[in-house]
Amino acid sequence: MRDSSINSTVNFDKDGIQHGFLKLPHSHDDSAWGSIVIPISVAKNGDGPTILFTGANHGDEYEGPVALFDLANNINSEDIQGRVIIIPGMNYPAFQAAKRNSPIDGGNMNRVFPGNPEGNFTEKIADYFNRKLLPLADFVVDFHSGGKTLDFLPFCCAHVLNDKDQQSRCIDAMKAFNAPHSVMLLEIDAANMYDTAAENMGKVFISTELGGGGSTTAYTVEIAKKGIRNLLKHTGICKGDLEVSETLNLDMPDQRCYVFSETTGLLEHCVDLGDPVKEGQLVAKVHNIERTGTAPVEYFAGIDGIYTGRHYPGLVFNGDFLGVVAVPV
Ligand code: ZN
Repeated sequence: MRDSSINSTVNFDKDGIQHGFLKLPHSHDDSAWGSIVIPISVAKNGDGPTILFTGANHGDEYEGPVALFDLANNINSEDIQGRVIIIPGMNYPAFQAAKRNSPIDGGNMNRVFPGNPEGNFTEKIADYFNRKLLPLADFVVDFHSGGKTLDFLPFCCAHVLNDKDQQSRCIDAMKAFNAPHSVMLLEIDAANMYDTAAENMGKVFISTELGGGGSTTAYTVEIAKKGIRNLLKHTGICKGDLEVSETLNLDMPDQRCYVFSETTGLLEHCVDLGDPVKEGQLVAKVHNIERTGTAPVEYFAGIDGIYTGRHYPGLVFNGDFLGVVAVPV
């Protein structure tokens, strides 16, 4: 396979702190010999585990980038044993444009793994992560939030894996992150996700959904920052005790957890995030906006649990995600 056309200005084997870029040539109307320039920081001190932090896998999700720019600005290589790789804006063109997907090629970073060195820009970045960065890592933390179209109770998540030893190491990392909610997440479709690529390499992988709506709050940013501090200790890269507060453990046993719209219209939420719901309970109505005097279409929970995520914008389209129910364990 062709080598990656991405060049790194940092040396991953060098001790100390380095701030640099991953550079991917991008010839376009405004810069014939230009590049996509992705900020990266690497802190290393001797031998030890490597943790790889990423934000803005989706470009409109901000807790991760805020916490990771902060980490890169404050990390001191003398305080660590091992290596910390920080990439606050993974799909950088999407992050720059405040969009979920790349404005250059439409690429959704979390749907193109393992990537392709001869593909579009998003696929080239994914390929670099798949072949160059993931192999360096023992622990992989990928920050997500709801972005402009989703909103979540703040949670850290792991997945059910075939390798139960690996799964338990992922769960240990999720517990160490210690978000207010810890979710065994059932993906709608796990194919071609960064998560799946990392897990297939045997890495300890965790992700998050820390809020939504395309912005942050002081509360959700602090959850991200505390999670980073805790993981640096959990991995042994930093010394010290974990900061532990209460977490609600949630499971997603099957696709009954998801509620999808089969109509287009105006969304009326009938429950809020964090509310307990029962199977068959009304969770949302979608009103026909083309005429008055028509009954809304009603949507119901498929399982007992806690309302954990929801559609964010006021209007919905046929096929949109409406909400998700996770089950306390
Ligand atoms: Zn995301």
